[in-house]
Amino acid sequence: MDEIRIENLEIYAGHGVFAEENRNGQPFFVNATLYADTREAGQKDDLTLSTHYGEVSHLIHKCMREKTFQLIEAAAEYAAEQVLLQFPLVKSLSLEIRKPCAPIGLPFESVSVRIRRGWKKAHLSIGSNMGDKEQYINEAVEKIKAHSFIKNVRVSKLLVTKPYGGVEQDDFLNGAIELETLLSPIELLHFLQKTELETGRERKIHWGPRTLDLDILFYEGVISQTKELMIPHPDMQNREFVLKPLAELCPYYMHPLFHKSVKQMLEELPR
Ligand code: ATP
Ligand code: CA
Ligand code: CA
Repeated sequence: MDEIRIENLEIYAGHGVFAEENRNGQPFFVNATLYADTREAGQKDDLTLSTHYGEVSHLIHKCMREKTFQLIEAAAEYAAEQVLLQFPLVKSLSLEIRKPCAPIGLPFESVSVRIRRGWKKAHLSIGSNMGDKEQYINEAVEKIKAHSFIKNVRVSKLLVTKPYGGVEQDDFLNGAIELETLLSPIELLHFLQKTELETGRERKIHWGPRTLDLDILFYEGVISQTKELMIPHPDMQNREFVLKPLAELCPYYMHPLFHKSVKQMLEELPR
C-alpha cells in the first residue's frame, strides 16, 4: 500500500492527567502515515482521486483541540477513528502523538504513543429457524448496515436448509455477509451478540431453534483460538449452509489455516 505522510504537525492542546495540563495546554506533535492506493491519482494527476493531506491535517488539529483527553492514547484513538471515517480512500493509518513537555520531572526528549488502525474485512454467517425468519434476518442486516464502524456490507442470497445437529426443529434460513469494519474482532462479536438479543433471540437447547444466529467466519489477518472467539469459525469447513452462501460472496477467499478457498472447501464436502 502507498503511503501519504504528515510529519510533526504541531498542535497546542490540553491533554493530560493533571488539571493544569488541561487548563494551560502544551504543544503536541503528530505524525501520521495514511495507507492508500495512490496509483490512479498519480497517473491522472488528480487530487480528487487521492486524499488531501491538508484536509487530514486540519481534521487531526480539530480532533486534538475540540476534546480534552487525559491520555494521548485516547486522543490518538479519536483522531485515527475520525480520519478513517471521513476519508474513505484511507484503508488504514499509523498515528503517533508526541508530548515533549509532559510533566515527568526528568530530562527527556519526548514521550509518545503510536497506534495502527484500519478497515478490516470480515465474513459472517447469519441464520434463523423460528418465527418470521426472513424478517429477523433482514432486521439484523439493517442493524449491521446502520453501525457507523461498518461499511460496504454485501449479503448473499438466503438458503433454506435442513437443521444441523440432530435436534427436532424447523428448517433454517441461512446466508452470509461480507463487510468492512473498524471494530476489533471481540467488539464485532459483542455487537453481533447484542444484535441477536435485540432481534429477540431465544434458545434453550444447544443447536436447537433460535430466532437469530450470527457467527464470525473470518476476520482479515486474525486467527483466534480462545473459547469466547474462534476465528476462523472452527466448523465452517463442514457446513454446506455456511460455505454455499459464502462462496457466492467470495469464492476465492482463502482459509488462513487450511489454505483452501471457500469454493474448494465447498466442493470437497462429502455429498
Ligand atoms: P456454532 O458456533 O457451532 O455454530 P452456535 O452458533 O449455536 O454454535 P452459540 O450458542 O451461538 O453457538 O455461541 C456459543 C459461543 O460461541 C458464544 O458465547 C461465543 O462466545 C462463542 N464463539 C466462539 N467463536 C465464535 C465465532 N467465530 N462467532 C460467534 N461466536 C463464537
Ligand atoms: Ca452458529
Ligand atoms: Ca452463534
